[in-house]
Amino acid sequence: MDSTDQRGDLARTEAVPAHHAAPRQVPPPRADPPPLSVAVVGSGPAGVYVVDQLVRAGRQGGVAVDVLERLPAPTGLVRYGVAPDHPDIKSISRTLVEVLGHPGVRLLGNVGVGDGPHQVPMDELRQRYDAVVVAVGASADSALAVPGADLAGCVGASQIVSWYGGHPDGARTWDLAAGQVAVLGVGNVALDVARILSRPADDLLGTDVPHAVYEQLAASAVTDVHVFGRRGADAVRFTAHELREIGAVEGVDVLVDPAELELDAQVEAAVQADRARRPVLAALRALAAREPSGAPRRVHLHLNAAPVAVLGDDRVEGLRTERTTTVDGALVATGETTDWPVQAVVRAIGYTGAPLAGVPFDERRGVVPHEAGRVLGEDGRPVPGLYVNGWIKRGPSGLIGASRRDARETVASLLADADAGLLPVPPLRGPAAVDALLAADGVEVVDLSGWGRLDVHEEAAGAPWGRGRVKVVDHQEMVAAARTAAVPPSPA
Ligand code: NAP
Repeated sequence: MDSTDQRGDLARTEAVPAHHAAPRQVPPPRADPPPLSVAVVGSGPAGVYVVDQLVRAGRQGGVAVDVLERLPAPTGLVRYGVAPDHPDIKSISRTLVEVLGHPGVRLLGNVGVGDGPHQVPMDELRQRYDAVVVAVGASADSALAVPGADLAGCVGASQIVSWYGGHPDGARTWDLAAGQVAVLGVGNVALDVARILSRPADDLLGTDVPHAVYEQLAASAVTDVHVFGRRGADAVRFTAHELREIGAVEGVDVLVDPAELELDAQVEAAVQADRARRPVLAALRALAAREPSGAPRRVHLHLNAAPVAVLGDDRVEGLRTERTTTVDGALVATGETTDWPVQAVVRAIGYTGAPLAGVPFDERRGVVPHEAGRVLGEDGRPVPGLYVNGWIKRGPSGLIGASRRDARETVASLLADADAGLLPVPPLRGPAAVDALLAADGVEVVDLSGWGRLDVHEEAAGAPWGRGRVKVVDHQEMVAAARTAAVPPSPA
């Protein structure tokens, strides 16, 4: 018997004879509020942490969350942005997928949002949900404004990361004929790229790297990777853990000039007083103190070397850097230049966001303008029912956990607006309206069980090679595996 029946019985037993009856009204059954319906665009950490917060909020009436993901596989940055040789970070994907399996949550994979073919326009989405949260990340490469940056062989880090990460939109082959490669920038992405290019390919056999990527890396001609930071040792952006990690790779010498680590007394004192920067400087000095082992590959770290030109006629033949120094806290070019004979340049100088049709965008900063996660329109006022989280909200910085803290703020704003009655009433609320929209456009949705089939398929593909998983890279092959791949019976 459901609660409605119980209320009916109660109403009957309370009935009194008509002649005693004072005019009395039986209160109508109290209906639970409908679940708060939310669409989250993007299934990377920034999106899934929003789902987690919504589910944990324990809101009366509950929540119904649809996570729309452009690709057939969930977890975004964790699957495609985290380097394959970082399995510990990648293991977060299990936790993220668990959140997507919570009652009331649906994964709508292979569903793009935007104004392209077979994509759901944002205004259609907003007609079907009480609120929409944009969590699409920021994975476009920042531009490098120096001559020659558009030469063949000078690429943004996102392209090489997409290649070795097996992103469906990435290149399938990578030109690894260059013996000497420059990597610009001294953040963790620069170290990821330097490490993947220099470490023995066999180290990657235990990872989920696509098999073609392994084979290309195994045949790579790269011997020297030069990493350039435009500022000094006090201003590198990578973390000590990542630096020690590259220093520990067998078969690679990491070379740092001790002279580049000498800081003036004031700067030294500031670094030593800083809990984040002190271990990085210590790790740099530990590397600088090492004798080269004569390893077949080298990673050279150059500091105070700003890129000023990529050299070459048709393709990269070199890189020109200019020595910098710091005067009163400001970076100053000295005019002293050096030409490096590199044949490829990777720009790892940071990512930026791309606009999503139907969502306000700050072109200058590459983010969606917001106030505590509420998207702001051109008039500077919140757009009712539209929220944002993650790198597209605060810019592309911070480790994965930062998006979790960020989600607390965004979801607090969303729930406060719901409680205050500030969310617009969507004319077509409900999963049926969403499903009908997708069906009408012929979109083949990959839900969580579809992802489960693809997941098992990838694990099975790794087995003949003794590998835990081999990623499927082609988008249509992913959809096909999600549709049909057999799920073996679970062991008794
Ligand atoms: P990042 O940490 O912001 O580093 C960007 C680097 O590019 C900085 O060294 C910056 O130097 C330099 N740069 C910017 N513009 C430049 C220019 N015009 N010329 C020369 N150099 C320039 O960005 P990221 O490496 O892309 O990383 C993004 C976020 O992801 C970070 O929070 C990072 O920690 C995180 N991440 C973490 C991991 C991990 O945990 N293993 C792996 C990858 C990424 P300035 O400082 O002088 O601007």
